Amino acid sequence: MIKAVRGTRDLLPPETALWNFVEAKAREVFRAYNFQEIRTPVFEETQLFARSVGEETDIVSKEMYTWEDRGRAQSDKGQSLTLRPENTAGVVRAYIEHKLWERGLQKLYYIGPQFRRERPQKGRYRQFYQIGAEVIGPPSAGSESPARDAEVLEMLATFLDRLGITGWTLELNSVGCPNDRALFNEALRKALEPVVAKMCVDCQRRAVTNPLRVFDCKIPEDQPIIDKLPRISQFLNQPCRQHFDEVQAILKATGIPFTLNDRLVRGLDYYTRTAFEFTHGGLGAQNAILGGGRYDGLSESLGGPQAPGIGFAIGEDRLVMSLPQSANAVAPQPDVYIAPLGAGMNREAARLARELRGEDIVTELGDESFRLKKSLETASKMGARFALIVGENEVKAGSFALKNLASGEQTSAPRAELARMIRNSVIASRVQIAPENK
Ligand code: AMP
Repeated sequence: MIKAVRGTRDLLPPETALWNFVEAKAREVFRAYNFQEIRTPVFEETQLFARSVGEETDIVSKEMYTWEDRGRAQSDKGQSLTLRPENTAGVVRAYIEHKLWERGLQKLYYIGPQFRRERPQKGRYRQFYQIGAEVIGPPSAGSESPARDAEVLEMLATFLDRLGITGWTLELNSVGCPNDRALFNEALRKALEPVVAKMCVDCQRRAVTNPLRVFDCKIPEDQPIIDKLPRISQFLNQPCRQHFDEVQAILKATGIPFTLNDRLVRGLDYYTRTAFEFTHGGLGAQNAILGGGRYDGLSESLGGPQAPGIGFAIGEDRLVMSLPQSANAVAPQPDVYIAPLGAGMNREAARLARELRGEDIVTELGDESFRLKKSLETASKMGARFALIVGENEVKAGSFALKNLASGEQTSAPRAELARMIRNSVIASRVQIAPENK
């Protein structure tokens, strides 16, 4: 048997209803903040990620799905291509390629699959889904403003609240500008020198290539050493400090709770200033629902104009896992099951189904080879509210037997009345069952 590849999975109904719910809510909330959707390709030139995410990161150094494409001619050497491990690089590439700065400040969101060759476990997949957004534009459009950072964070808090997700924590830090980081890296290197031999192999490598990444270390034995290392907060210059203070002040003014975490450096190289993560207690080891931050130099490093920006990526798989119990997916049920009885009734049944579906009534269509008993059983099993019986007599009379499968009550209804009767009953029962969903 051929199975889905390790680290990938099928999303089946009824769970897909939860994914639709989350995505519809994202579109609705982001719209209120004047964001618009962007869709970029799932694969890009490898160098896009190498130059933006950073050669030294785990993503680029060991997690990308990269292959050499075939050239046009057999003998041509192909391009190196990579399945996108994240979407910010693609959005910024598109921003540069289509000169989006000419249209002022861009507020863009995306929803789609990303690919990383990580070790699969609960909440961590090799194909996973992100819902993300970017605010990017020329400095003259206010893209550098701390108001943009606070707006994005407030939008995220609103989104989680609207999904009914409680118990999230917003952790906030500033990783400063490249100048601050150069000084900080120097200080870190010095502080690591006498202790690094006692640390894990990954940290030993990081200490040489990119000491900041030491803060990503999850090995318990290394933590007491990491706790004593200098922090980026001690190295922020005046403008960076002011920017960070203002972000916090706006968050306080809008009532968004946060905690400062000066160990938060994030896994990607392009971040500057504000860096953040939302975590959720119910998720276990993989507790980060989303992460993001500012990336003021990214556009230039990809050959574009100055275009400060801030963005985030939500792990949709984890978001769905964090939904409250009350959001349990229930398989949606048809309003009516049409049961054609006897020879030649399939055609008439198909006509009726077409009419009812045209009125937005969820209709399942049976087959005339089923007897009445089997049709009613099938209708009940799928949870249909009504069975509509289409026999020769009914067709002749132009009036059909409509059976309420819950109460067993059966009425005869003229063709023109069917849609209205079904709709009235369905609406009445929806109000009764779930008034809180209104
Ligand atoms: P990142 O792009 O690494 O900042 O990740 C942003 C968010 O995507 C994380 O907070 C996770 O929720 C989610 N995420 C990252 N990697 C994976 C993965 N392999 N499987 C599932 N979700 C992931």
